[in-house]
Amino acid sequence: MKCTVCGGELKTAATGLPFKISDTSIVILKGLPVVQCSGCPEYLIEDEVLRRVDEILAKVEGRTELEIVRYAA
Ligand SMILES: [Zn+2]
Repeated sequence: MKCTVCGGELKTAATGLPFKISDTSIVILKGLPVVQCSGCPEYLIEDEVLRRVDEILAKVEGRTELEIVRYAA
């Protein structure tokens, strides 16, 4: 698979990404599997992973401004 932005090689990598769940709460998901471009900052999240992210975020209560959650498939 090639990057649609720069044509670089896409590689699977684990990273941490912030997700806004409300106006006051952000969840950082650690160990998230993404497909990362080796040539530019572009990345993709596969549909299957995104569905799991939705499930994980739905369980977060968002009582703190910042919460760090480890991604588990
Ligand atoms: Zn790229």
